[in-house]
Amino acid sequence: MKTSPLELLEAARDAAGHAYAPYSQFPVGAVIEMQDGTRYDGCNVENASYGLTLCAERNAITTMIAQTTGTNPAARRIKRVAIVGLKAKPCWPCGACRQVLREFGTQEVIVEGDGGEPLVTSFEELLPHSFGPEDLGS
Ligand SMILES: [Zn+2]
Repeated sequence: MKTSPLELLEAARDAAGHAYAPYSQFPVGAVIEMQDGTRYDGCNVENASYGLTLCAERNAITTMIAQTTGTNPAARRIKRVAIVGLKAKPCWPCGACRQVLREFGTQEVIVEGDGGEPLVTSFEELLPHSFGPEDLGS
């Protein structure tokens, strides 16, 4: 059964509960759903040096890479990402995360609207004319 956007947002909210955000007090959670249906979650992890802070989206992606081998390409292709910021509605991915989400073929982005309703948009809308692996040529 297909997971609804609302269910993915709830999973992202759960992930945000694990955030390490003592400096910003801005917890964020993200869930990536792969082409094969597997899901990985992540939360933001801050650092006293600030610049080393890792966003929830990239945290979910590094977890996915660490837990897959790449022998099954669908296992590393992102179908959807859901993002929840406990203090921001909507909480769109930052520019760095958009580029990393692009690397793995993300097709759809889900965030919360003002009333908590899912806002679903195509990835192309968030990062048009983007640069990706296929642009390196062969
Ligand atoms: Zn980010």
